[in-house]
Formats: sequence, structure tokens, C-alpha cells
Amino acid sequence: MALEVARDYLMFIDGAPAASTSEAWIDVRSPATRELVGRVPAGTEADVDRAVAAARASFRDGRWRNLLMPERVAILNRLADLIDEHADELARLETLQTGTAYKLRRDSDFAFASDNLRFFATQVRHLEGKAAAEYSGSHTSMIRREPIGVCAQIAPWNYPMWMAIWKIGPALAAGNSVVLKPAAATPLTTVRLAELAREAGLPDGVLNVVTGRGEVVGAALAAHMDVDLISLTGDSATGQKIQTLASANLKRLHLELGGKAPFIVYADADLEAAARGATAGALINGGQDCTAATRAYVARPVYERFLDRLVELFESVRVGDPFGPDTDLGTLISQAQVDRVDGFVQRARAAGATIATGGYRPVVSGFEQGAFYRPTIVVGAAQDSEIVQSEVFGPVLAVLPFDTEEEALTMANDTKYGLASSVWTRDVIKAMNAARTLNFGHVLVNDHLMVTSEMPHGGFKQSGFGKDMSSYSFEEYTQVKHVMIELTGVAEKSWHYTIFGDKPGS
Ligand code: NAD
Repeated sequence: MALEVARDYLMFIDGAPAASTSEAWIDVRSPATRELVGRVPAGTEADVDRAVAAARASFRDGRWRNLLMPERVAILNRLADLIDEHADELARLETLQTGTAYKLRRDSDFAFASDNLRFFATQVRHLEGKAAAEYSGSHTSMIRREPIGVCAQIAPWNYPMWMAIWKIGPALAAGNSVVLKPAAATPLTTVRLAELAREAGLPDGVLNVVTGRGEVVGAALAAHMDVDLISLTGDSATGQKIQTLASANLKRLHLELGGKAPFIVYADADLEAAARGATAGALINGGQDCTAATRAYVARPVYERFLDRLVELFESVRVGDPFGPDTDLGTLISQAQVDRVDGFVQRARAAGATIATGGYRPVVSGFEQGAFYRPTIVVGAAQDSEIVQSEVFGPVLAVLPFDTEEEALTMANDTKYGLASSVWTRDVIKAMNAARTLNFGHVLVNDHLMVTSEMPHGGFKQSGFGKDMSSYSFEEYTQVKHVMIELTGVAEKSWHYTIFGDKPGS
């Protein structure tokens, strides 16, 4: 498919396209062809100040949070409709800037993104909590669930638009104002999202987008004294930096970080289903997925059979032109990411592991500069080796055998991450034992990758804290206020003497 003419995408501040105070631009290039897809301004601290001020003004005057509920809901639903209407255009742009297969973007990310938004539009109408009652005996106590204020949200490059929706959906539904920073490599669909939000009727200043580098724009947002909450989807190391910066004004934190998902196959599992699940689970988005299956632990009696089928399936995956109708896997995000992934694989090989398939950069005719990497299976790696412990973020699956259920669960939990995991078995007792024992925010039985708008996605341990999607995410973007109304009208309360005066009747 031909590349449309590249254009400049300005930032979006206070309801309008905005240039940066800097003269600098960031080129966004296709990882498949290296052609220019578009340019965005390299935002500055001054741009962050402007965007935060616009968000604060919109929050202060209540133009969004005090809007009639039916209108607020209608705007969010209209935005979801606009995403659906523009799904082809947005998916093309996403494919151009990420290099991943168009079919994934068009048929997975965007369908999910609009559903997530519609879920939050519904969620705002179902505020739940404790019932109002006279808990003290002489006051009516009630709970208000209110927006937090200005939320700064920093998104990654792997699912640029979808992750942006996971962030703005709950934040906007709850009545907050937002400053959103897309990753420097993939800002274009996020700018389009802000334009569509305006078209949907979102008041000016409620959703602002500042483009630029993480160390500049992201760090300025994390440190900003007028930002009330900072949310990041990104690397655990970035999460650490943001946590430090956010301490200046004790911002609320919402961190969705890295993962190293285990994939446990018991001997009684449906091996065909498990092998297909592992292929999809490991190779989704070129493995650039925080929930991707990265470590398969396979019961020794079925290890060889499972591995043979897995190699077959990995080798059937078609790597090529992201827009090609026969393409399963496009590129990784950049040549630098390919170097990084290949570095992990070559170090594993040097440490004694075997590459069962893949482990190299395929040359794709017509895309000689493309950032391609063949789906790779690593066997014979040690549990404490780098390839089993570190987040590779590429199409690489390590496969290890195990002998006992306890050993499998112990190895699966032996990681600093705690995002997603899966277990494959027909034995309900084994499944339930794994569900209880696996120390991850998401445990799947007989599937991998599946998420749903109604249920939370979020990590344990160094995968961060705070949930995306579901009512749990919505709650993260609200704060709970206790309102207590005195009912007796008596001036002298029976307990006042504990602070001044004598005990009544003494
Ligand atoms: P990254 O941490 O490099 O970048 C994420 C965002 O943070 C980008 O917008 C970047 O510009 C910004 N950033 C970078 N340095 C910063 C700094 N010093 N201060 C403030 N902001 C900064 O991550 P990435 O490479 O874009 O994304 C891949 C990572 O994201 C992986 O670790 C992956 O597991 C994780 N991820 C997690 C989830 C989840 O839900 N847990 C989802 C997707 C991706």
C-alpha cells in the first residue's frame, strides 16, 4: 500500500493545534521502509506548562466535570463512534508508524479501543460504594467519588492508540482533565485522537497532547507541581524515574510496567491448543507486548512433542510487508529494537542455549531496511539466565522442561515481574492451584493474551501498580470524599468536654 504524503502533526493544547516553543521537530519514520510518515514538534518544559495550565483551567471552571451526565456520556460514546468510523485511516497510520501488521491494528487494537471507551462511558453512570447511613449515631455519612484534577498520562509505542485509550477512557469518564504524552516514535495517532475528541464535542483544554522526548516532556510532567496524578505505561526503569520525580508534590501514581509472562503446559493439556496459544501469545505484535508469553514451562513427558509442534507453528508465521495481505508479522519498532532482541538471543546462544528456530533478521524483498526479526525459540536456557529473566520485548520464546507441579509454579514465580501468566491443563485442581499460587495480576487458564474491558489489567511486583480497564481503573482516577452531616442541631456535644470544660453531670 502506498505511503500517503507525510505531514506535520502539531501538538494539541486548549482545543487547538499548537506549535512548540522550540524550533525542533521529531521525524516519525516507517520501521519497514524508513520513509517519513510525519513530524511532530519536540515539546519543551514551556509546552508542558501551557498544556497543564489549559488542563487546570478546564478543571477549575468545571466545563467537563460538571457537564450534565448524559452529555458527558454522549461525548465519550461519540468519540468511540468516530474511532470506529476512522478505523481504517487510524490503523493505517498506526501500521505506518509501528511497522506491525495492519490486520492486527485494524481488527484487534481499534475494535478493542472503542469498546474500552464505551465501557468507561457506561461506568461513570454506576458509581458504587458504601451506603449513606448514620454510622456515628448522630450524623449522616455519605461517600462522594470525585475526579482528581489534572492527570498527566505517558504512553508507550507498542500499542500507541490503544494504550492512549486505556489511559484517557477512565480519566475523562471520571471528570478529570488530561495532558497526554505519546511515545516519541509513535505520536501520530494520538494527535489524531485529540482532534477526534474535539470533533466529538470534548470541551477545550480537557484533553491536551504534548509530543516530545520522555526525558524532557515526560519528566516535566512527572515533576510538575500542578499535576495531581501521573500515569505511565512503559518500562519498569522509567517507572522508577517517574516515581522519584512525582514525589515533589506527592502525586498519585498509576504505573503499568514491564512483564515476563510464564506459560505453563501440564502433561494433560490439549497440546495443539497450547502450542497455538503459545505461538499467538509469544508473537503478538512481534512480542512487543507486556503480557506476551516469554517463558514456556512444559511437563517433561510432553516436552518434545510440544516443542516440535511449536517449531512448526513458529516457522509457519509469515514475516513481511506490514500491509501485505499474507503478512502475519511486520517489523519491530526500530532497528535498535532488532539489535536489542538479537543481542539477547546471541548472548543466550553464547551461554549454551540452542536456537530451535529463528534467531536472525530475515531479508524481505523490497523492504531491505526493514526492522524484521524471525520468530525465535530458545531451548536449553537456565532458569536464572538473562533470556529467562529479562524483558526482551521481541518475538522470542524460551522453552524449559519441568518435572513437578511445584517446580513449574516456583519457576514461573521466579521473576521480578508480575503482570500476566497462563496455565494449560484439563485438571481443575491443577488450574485452581495455579490460579492461587501464580503471583501475577492476571492468570489465564487454557488461553493467553485475552483481556476484556470489564476486567482489570495490571501488575504485581515490578510490573507496577494500578489497574487499566474495568471499574478498578475508573476508581484509580477518582478520589473518595467522606461527607458527614450533623443531625441533632445540639450546640454542646457530649464529647466536647474531652477538649474543653467538664464532663456533663460531673
Ligand atoms: P519506555 O519506558 O521507554 O517509554 C514509555 C513512555 O515513557 C514513552 O512515552 C517515553 O517517552 C516516556 N519516557 C521515557 N523516559 C522517560 C523519563 N525519564 N521520564 C518520563 N517519561 C519517560 O517504554 P517503551 O519502550 O515505550 O514501552 C515498552 C515498555 O512498556 C515495556 O517495558 C512494556 O512491558 C511496557 N508496557 C507495559 C504495559 C502494561 O500494561 N503493563 C503495556 C504496554 C507496554
